[in-house]
Formats: sequence, structure tokens, C-alpha cells
Amino acid sequence: MNIQENISLKPYNTFGIDKKARFFTSADSVDEVKNAILEAKRLSVPLIILGGGSNMLLTKDLHALVLKIDIKGIQPIAENEEHVFLEVGAGENWHGFVMQTIQMGLGGIENLSLIPGTVGASPMQNIGAYGVEIKEVFQQLTAVDRETGETVVFDAESCKFGYRESVFKRDLKDKYIITHVVYRLHKKPVYNLSYGAIQETLEQLGHQKPTLEAVSQAVIAIRQSKLPDPAFIGNAGSFFKNPTVPLLHYNELKAKFPAIPGYPNEEGMKIPAAWLIEQAGWKGKRIGNIGVHQHQPLVLVNFGGGDGAEIKALSESIQESVAEKFGINLHPEVNFY
Ligand code: FAD
Ligand code: NAP
Repeated sequence: MNIQENISLKPYNTFGIDKKARFFTSADSVDEVKNAILEAKRLSVPLIILGGGSNMLLTKDLHALVLKIDIKGIQPIAENEEHVFLEVGAGENWHGFVMQTIQMGLGGIENLSLIPGTVGASPMQNIGAYGVEIKEVFQQLTAVDRETGETVVFDAESCKFGYRESVFKRDLKDKYIITHVVYRLHKKPVYNLSYGAIQETLEQLGHQKPTLEAVSQAVIAIRQSKLPDPAFIGNAGSFFKNPTVPLLHYNELKAKFPAIPGYPNEEGMKIPAAWLIEQAGWKGKRIGNIGVHQHQPLVLVNFGGGDGAEIKALSESIQESVAEKFGINLHPEVNFY
């Protein structure tokens, strides 16, 4: 196993934060993942797992062994009348996988086009966008137990998926390394066009009826028009989760702020965090090399040379002012290190 020392993590996180890993290695097989667990023990340092680094904020140098997951492969492993089951290596690029399913004529994740990162990280926060979450097509995953080195299979129920949540972000945080994920894709696509913008964009792009390619193209067009590309401006997508408040609280807010948007769900009303942050006066704010994106205030950005600790401090200031104005606590979606 090739272990490098004192490596800059700047190319490995989409915020583009220049912090170092004391030790750094990668694994392209389950055996290498198991070796890395032993190496971290031998070096007496924690093991930190890295996918595409698109949901991480590095606030300090990591005195750890950073393990980049590079396990590749997309294999059909079973099928029935309605579905094809694809087993995917955790190191596959998510968007590349989505494109491959579309080429294969398989539906289910076309709305999740252009999400950065790896397939292995997709169950971590049950990635979602434009009305679809991976839990709808997730079959199972395989992971290595960091304590015993054993391989364990998790089905959807044991992953305890929630809104941008799973058991791996909560009770089982830092306990497992995901090596493969099996997705159950539809032979006959069932389109989800519930997000108004998709329907509208399909029409603008001249598509009379939805196809997998057309829906994917529409999602890509919307995303490119709205979200900053990490290749040009450092960011990790939505910094906070959209909060859900009880209906009573929402109605009180509605009386005070009649324009407040809300989407009903099982627990009450989901309020777009972007709206709360904008109303608290943060949209487009720049502090030195970091700031709040001018079009999408839920995205915190590094204009270049910014520091992770500064971004963390900015996020805390935003949380304070939103709590003061609306009585709502915003919770980060991004993982802090
Ligand atoms: P990383 O950032 O590398 O890791 C995230 C966390 O998962 C870390 O704690 C890491 O230790 C852990 N981890 C990673 N891989 C493994 C593994 N194999 N086993 C165990 N633990 C692991 N997210 C959405 O849900 N919807 C969106 O629409 C969306 N849009 C985005 C747009 C932009 C421009 C950006 C920058 C981000 C966006 N995100 C979105 C967030 C991010 O892309 C996803 O959360 C993605 O799944 C993270 O993948 P990653 O491989 O980069 O994970
Ligand atoms: P948007 O369309 O401006 O909408 C703002 C928020 O309102 C969204 O976050 C969304 O919640 C909610 N919303 C809008 N229409 C909805 C509907 N019909 N039903 C239920 N909820 C609705 O959002 P955006 O920022 O441009 O992002 C578009 C999509 O991409 C969203 O699904 C968003 O989650 C996803 N995205 C995620 C990240 C990330 O890092 N997690 C980054 C970029 C984009 P939901 O978030 O619950 O959908």
C-alpha cells in the first residue's frame, strides 16, 4: 500500500481548501480498504474516508490517514420483469453512473444528474434533487466494518434514510466504509416532473414529451444556470439542510412574513433555507476570500485562498441571525473536519 505523507488536500475537496493530510492513500479493492484500516491502526492515527470531497469542509490539517475510495465497476447482477439491479463500485463518479444508466435506457436517477461526488457517498446523506432521492431506487450496499474488518450488507431499512440523512451520518457515524452499492433501476421509466422548473425547461428545450435524456438535459440546464461550478468557484453545494418546522410555528411565521415559502411534508412544513438566509441579509455577502453565493444563498463559497475555519465561522454567524429572526435552527448538511 502506497502511503504518501503531508499531502495537500486542495485538489481533493470542492471547496478548494488548502489543508494537509498527515498520511494519504487510496483503495481500488475491498482488500485494500481492509489494509488501510490496519495501516491506520499501525500508524496510530484516525482513518478519514474521502470520496469526491464535495460534501466536506476542512477546517484544519488532518492528523490522520486519509483514504480515497477508488473502487470502480458497474455490473448488472440481476433483473426481473420491471427492474435491472446494478452493482456499482463506491469510487465510481455519481454523474458518470447516471449517464451510463441513461444510455442503458434505465430510469430512476435521471433527476439526480450532475450531482458531484462518488456512488459510495450517495447513501451517506440519501442524495436528492428535483423531487427524487436515492432511497427510492436503493437496493442494498456492502460496507467494511472498521472495527472488525468484516464485510456487512445493509438493506434500505437498516440504512434508516431520511431527508439528507442516513444511519451512517448518525448512530453508525465513522463505523463503516461503503465499498459497493446496488441500485434497482426501472426498465420502463417512471418520470418525476413534480418540480415546476423541469416541466418548463423541457418545453424551453423543445422536448414534446419526457425521455430519460430529455429530463437529464433539463436538470443539467437548470443546475448550470443556478449553481456555482466548483471548478471555478469553491463550494460544497447546499451548506445547510432545509429545515422543517411544525405547522403551528409555520403559521406564526406566515402571519409575520406573508411571503415565506413552505412545502408540506410528514413532519410539518419544509422552508427553503435559502429564503431564510436571504431575508437575514446574507445573500451575496463577501468577507475577504469567502462569502455567500450571489444567486443561491444556501451555497457558501471560497473565492480562492479562503480558509475552512473562516467558512465555519461565517456559517455560525448565519445560523445565529436566522435563529434570531425566525426562531429556526439551521443544521449543516456539509461534514466538518
Ligand atoms: P465526500 O465529500 O468525499 O464525503 C462526504 C462524507 O461521506 C464524508 O463524511 C466522508 O467521510 C463520507 N464518505 C464518502 N465516501 C464514503 C464511503 N465510501 N464510505 C464511507 N463513508 C464515505 N447533494 C445532494 O444530495 N443533492 C444535490 O443536488 C447536490 N448538489 C450539489 C451541487 C454541488 C455544486 C456540490 C459541490 C455538492 C452538491 N451536493 C448535493 C453535495 C454532494 O455532492 C453529495 O453529498 C455527494 O454525495 C458527496 O459525495 P462525495 O463523494 O464528494 O463525498
Ligand atoms: P429551488 O428549486 O430554488 O427550491 C428551493 C427549495 O425549495 C429546494 O431546496 C427544495 O427542497 C424546495 N422545493 C422547491 N420546489 C419544491 C417542490 N415542488 N416540492 C418540494 N420541495 C420543493 O432549489 P435549488 O437550490 O435550485 O436546488 C434544486 C434541487 O437540487 C433541490 O432539490 C435541491 O435539494 C438540490 N440541490 C441540492 C444541493 C445539495 O448540496 N444538497 C445543491 C444544489 C441543489 P429540496 O432541497 O428538499 O428539494
